[in-house]
Amino acid sequence: MFKSPLQDTSMCRKPFFQPLVCLSLPHLPKAMLFKLSVAISIALFAVASPLREQNVEKRVKASVYTKCTVPNTAALTFDDGPYDYIYDISNILKQNGATATFFFNGNNYHCIYDQESASRVKFVYDQGHHVASHTWGHKDLSTLNWDQIHSEMWMIEQALMRITGSYPAFMRPPYGKYNDTVLEASGIRGQEVVMWDFDSGDSAGVSSQDSRNRYLNIANAHPDTLLAVNHETRASAVYEVLPYAIQQLKAKGYQLVSVAECLGKPKYQWIGVPQQRTVEWHC
Ligand SMILES: [Zn+2]
Repeated sequence: MFKSPLQDTSMCRKPFFQPLVCLSLPHLPKAMLFKLSVAISIALFAVASPLREQNVEKRVKASVYTKCTVPNTAALTFDDGPYDYIYDISNILKQNGATATFFFNGNNYHCIYDQESASRVKFVYDQGHHVASHTWGHKDLSTLNWDQIHSEMWMIEQALMRITGSYPAFMRPPYGKYNDTVLEASGIRGQEVVMWDFDSGDSAGVSSQDSRNRYLNIANAHPDTLLAVNHETRASAVYEVLPYAIQQLKAKGYQLVSVAECLGKPKYQWIGVPQQRTVEWHC
């Protein structure tokens, strides 16, 4: 009887299977493991005998989006949270009929499993904002190996799944840095990689006036779409820039939507129910 490589752990002793299957096993949820198992089983049956390594080792790289694709949309994104100003961000957005995307870390400014952090994540999720991955510890993924990349990605995916019930479908690499290994790891995890085409400059420490001018200039330039990076950890970005940015973009007729909506894709790989807190919820 044919034995799937995921059932046959002896496969893991063979270097040819390790990168694709064995090393990523601890980091992939059950449903994904099932899909992966089916895909690999089909691939194994499809190739001529004896197996040729190049047919199995091919990995599909994740797509990288630097722009929205749905005309007349502007996606405001907020990195590095969950952080202290998130309720005010959500309120400002809501007052303007806007939806945004939050690229969350697991263990950066705060631990995502802290009661307050988990409540913040759940709040914006329930408000209809788009919850996405900024990986666990805000490391430069391009400096990490295959296993380390999966670990950084899996731990935040697990946390978001536990807190919201939904499995993220979008990832923004910290510092916007990635390489082919990162894209291959993202691809196998079903994560689309999201960059940006507009930077408010908040993380580089530009003044609020400079950030406002950037938004004013881009609104006047009026590109078809906008994919803007902001950081929710900057008070000035929230209180001095965000209301102005929304005002300018709305004045030009943009729809302020999530990354998923501006790309015409689902927000999550699947949607479930939140889990109950356990002792495993820690950083
Ligand atoms: Zn970041």
